[in-house]
Amino acid sequence: MQLCPGMRLRVPFGRSRRIGVVTGLAKDSPVTCDRLRPAIEVLDEQPLLPAEILRLAEWAARYYHHPIGEVVATILPTALRRGRPISNMRPSVWRLTAAGRAADKDTLARRAPRQAAVLARLASREGALASEEMADLPGDWRAGLRNLIAKGLVEAASRSEPQPCPDVNAPRLNHAQKAAVDSLCGNLNASGAFLLDGVTGSGKTEVYLAVIERVLAAGRQALVLVPEIGLTPQLLERFRRRLGTGLAVLHSGMADRERTHAWLAARDGHAGVIIGTRSALFTPLSNPGLIIVDEEHDLSLKQQDGFRYHARDLAVVRASQAGIPVLLGSATPSLESLHNARRGRYHHLHLPMRAGDARPPSLHLLDLRGQPLQQGLSAPLVQRIRRHLDNDGQVLLFLNRRGYAPVLMCHACGWVAGCHRCDARLTWHQRADRLRCHHCGHERRVNCACPNCGSGELHAVGQGTERLEQTLNSIFPDAEVARIDRDSTRRRGAMEALMERARSGRARILLGTQMLAKGHHLPNVTLVGILDCDQGLFGADFRAPERLAQLVVQVSGRAGRESRTGEVILQTHHPDHPLLNTLLRDGYGVFAREALAEREQAGLPPYGYLALLRAEAAAEQQPHGFLEQARQAGEQQDPGEVLLMGPVPAPMERRAGRYRAQLLFQCAERAPLQRLLARLVPVLHGLPAARRVRWSLDVDPQEML
Ligand code: ADP
Ligand code: ZN
Ligand code: ZN
Repeated sequence: MQLCPGMRLRVPFGRSRRIGVVTGLAKDSPVTCDRLRPAIEVLDEQPLLPAEILRLAEWAARYYHHPIGEVVATILPTALRRGRPISNMRPSVWRLTAAGRAADKDTLARRAPRQAAVLARLASREGALASEEMADLPGDWRAGLRNLIAKGLVEAASRSEPQPCPDVNAPRLNHAQKAAVDSLCGNLNASGAFLLDGVTGSGKTEVYLAVIERVLAAGRQALVLVPEIGLTPQLLERFRRRLGTGLAVLHSGMADRERTHAWLAARDGHAGVIIGTRSALFTPLSNPGLIIVDEEHDLSLKQQDGFRYHARDLAVVRASQAGIPVLLGSATPSLESLHNARRGRYHHLHLPMRAGDARPPSLHLLDLRGQPLQQGLSAPLVQRIRRHLDNDGQVLLFLNRRGYAPVLMCHACGWVAGCHRCDARLTWHQRADRLRCHHCGHERRVNCACPNCGSGELHAVGQGTERLEQTLNSIFPDAEVARIDRDSTRRRGAMEALMERARSGRARILLGTQMLAKGHHLPNVTLVGILDCDQGLFGADFRAPERLAQLVVQVSGRAGRESRTGEVILQTHHPDHPLLNTLLRDGYGVFAREALAEREQAGLPPYGYLALLRAEAAAEQQPHGFLEQARQAGEQQDPGEVLLMGPVPAPMERRAGRYRAQLLFQCAERAPLQRLLARLVPVLHGLPAARRVRWSLDVDPQEML
């Protein structure tokens, strides 16, 4: 057998054994023979990873200055990383028997909902379905499938090729959509980046679907990346209905078996469309035709620990390496992408209007100064909510703070419940009767008396979603409230159940954190209230205004998505704030132009390039000591092109019992910064202080925390 890059090996490592991947072959080595050790076993007969993916991994390892081994480990599903043979991982394929097609679905739905769900999925498509196409069904669908097989309603089948079957119910594309589709379809055989800049509800997804149909018809594959919370059953159902069979789903919350099946189906060309979150970017494709990044501005596309890659940026690299187009879509594009479009690096496609009959929502600032507040709700907002409920509308309220109250304070002495491991306050969760730290996860019982003065008068200060829910229940006792945040959706299936209550219209008031801000299509929402937009106005991060503007536009986009015009109320103590006014008066595009001008003045991205070196340790001085050495080493390596700033304490200096500090690298050009990092990172490993801290490098950091 010939050894090739991309094959897995079992290798000796110290006294244990590890799984390795061949990244290259060499005739000789600078390491002497007596120090080289032979591999124990070659695990693959054919390369597991195609050359395209290895090349991308090498590019990413170089760009993010991260070890190639960890990059490859990120790419491989766990079972494959552990050396499991792929012959055991071939997915099974299933279809209905004649008895299955004739089965009484209503009875089954009542008696055995799991079986009914599997049966319905199989019945909804022509031909056979692979297990990765059922992986998103709720609950233990495998048990349902086993029972259906035992009853003779389902049987094993052989894999059919993906069948594009254009849906007759597809809307006729409007002019702008058609122009976008034509522009892309004229470039399907070449690399090129396209920014689809379309207001919420403008029909971006329809554009994706139309282009994907063309890609499939040409016998090629499309890879679609969506933000973590955008991968909803509705979206998958819409893709399935429109594109027929051969859809593989990949996200980190999936059982590894299904993930591996989907990965192999993509690699072997059995899946025509691969849809997934961030890490799906690395899915090998047998015949790549297109990459789509939906909500390209979304923060979840950037990995925030370990191998800190940005899936959007790597999508652009991958597409260019593969010679295929990449489509970045958003109603609120990142300033980076807008800048690239303005400089002509990306084709800029616009969808300026909502699709169909839907009209844009009207936005208003509500001045909170001097207004009496009922747990964060002003009287005018309460009135508006009542009016919309009376008119059969649905109301969505946005508050980006879960729990009951962010502060628990002693009325007698002013003591505040804080986390002993972080520079942070504990959030009171009334329902769980616990104080919780949202930064390190620490939690404890609530004190009945102040530990400082013994007074029993402990007050909840400020509002979280739990408290707001209680308030809404008392003001609007007849309106059902659905609270959607990380606490209320923790149980499996809870999110779907809540969204179902929201969509069916049973829940009249929807209350949530940013989980509710994106992706969901809620046609009956007529009023959106943003309770506290001041949180985002004065953030420490230079991206805070951009994030706030994106949030406001995205949340507003939930309103009036169909025939009813929506209304959006923003409560603020700063009604004169220029950012809010530009955004409301002139829209996101003008806001972005002003924000870009500010970035240009400050030399910040996209007009400059950043890297952040972070360090943390249990002892207060050590992160600083390490970063000081790093700065000196950096200054020695750099001819003065890169600005080194710091070290400074992190905005939250202590977290989870560790002190944190950071050193910022800033440069007007990418290349000198990359050159410096390439020379510096090997030096960092050898610094005396490096052994006493945990450090990490973040190239193009998205959060400065
Ligand atoms: P986006 O992805 O930009 O938020 P969608 O593609 O989800 O927008 O479209 C929003 C709504 O408009 C959906 O209900 C969709 O079916 C509908 N829609 C999209 N394009 C058209 C069209 N050309 N004609 C009529 N309805 C459309
Ligand atoms: Zn006290
Ligand atoms: Zn903490």
